Amino acid sequence: MNPYDVIIVGGSNAGLSAAMTLGRSLRHVLVLDNNQPCNRQTPHSHNFLTRDGETPAAMAAIAREQVLHYPTVKLQTATVVGATAVEDGFEVTTAAGQVFQSRKLLLATGLKDEMLPIPGFAECWGISVLHCPYCHGYEVHGQKIGLLANGNMAAELVNLIYNWSRDLVLFTNGPADFTAEQAAIMHARNIQVVEMPIAELEHHNGRLYAVRTTDGASHALEAAFARVPFRQHSDLAAKLGCTLTDMGLIQATEFGETNVPGLFAAGDNTTLMRQVASAIANGSKAAAWINKELIQQGIYSQVVALQE
Ligand SMILES: Cc1cc2nc3c(=O)[nH]c(=O)nc-3n(C[C@H](O)[C@H](O)[C@H](O)COP(=O)(O)OP(=O)(O)OC[C@H]3O[C@@H](n4cnc5c(N)ncnc54)[C@H](O)[C@@H]3O)c2cc1C
Repeated sequence: MNPYDVIIVGGSNAGLSAAMTLGRSLRHVLVLDNNQPCNRQTPHSHNFLTRDGETPAAMAAIAREQVLHYPTVKLQTATVVGATAVEDGFEVTTAAGQVFQSRKLLLATGLKDEMLPIPGFAECWGISVLHCPYCHGYEVHGQKIGLLANGNMAAELVNLIYNWSRDLVLFTNGPADFTAEQAAIMHARNIQVVEMPIAELEHHNGRLYAVRTTDGASHALEAAFARVPFRQHSDLAAKLGCTLTDMGLIQATEFGETNVPGLFAAGDNTTLMRQVASAIANGSKAAAWINKELIQQGIYSQVVALQE
């Protein structure tokens, strides 16, 4: 018999939300996490009802405490390096060489953002160089904001961030690549476009105050938004044969089902809607579906059976 009904790889917003739903379904769950959530550098997390403005670390601590209230849930710090489908389930291996088996497997492993190769960029990421206006736009509304992007992505970003500030400077980091229509919109909105390559983001402890271009000019700013490339935080989905979308996200249904039977995915690794609220909702829905699948297979909670 598999010791665990479900193993969850990734114990952040999506993974712990799933663990709570499964714990409350009396399922034996093992959460394996190596504590590298994508938002770890951001000082305050916003736009999650009841925890607006809380630090990510405090939110994670509350989540862990509440999930561990359920005695059938175990949480272990570990990096999962291997996973394979075996008879009746899955087997995962950790970097320390531990091997665990479960009937169902949930990947809540998140995404890894690639830092732009600009000095200062990584230090400012999540502090004053921002990814999402719904998470951080309110805090910088009306300020002088830089946008680090080019092409269609830049045009889209300008349109979006214009809602929070009219004082925008677009840094294309090389020749601008816009259609005539996009250029006309920027001109009409008085958006300054700087094509000179960026030399450095000038900052104090991650707080951006200027973008210095290679001609030596220093463009004063209070914050910036950037679109960065991302990839799956873990290669487990690929190893297990999951279909990925063109953007590199795990293809999953609304309830987290992947193309591999018994394998589920939830949270950032499946969606561009990267927000705590979405990850928590995804995790909870996937967990309910996992429990439903187990019930459909005639596998009921062992806890109740022991009490009978
Ligand atoms: C800089 C930044 C700031 C943000 N600010 C906000 C905000 O203010 N408000 C908001 O709503 N959203 C914000 N977000 C988005 C939010 O953080 C994510 O949507 C959310 O954390 C996604 O949760 P997740 O559980 O899917 O992934 P993550 O939180 O990224 O967690 C994935 C977990 O899986 C673990 N993991 C991965 N691979 C393995 C492995 N092989 N073995 C073991 N563990 C593994 C990681 O260590 C990590 O703990 C921000 C994102 C970024 C990048």
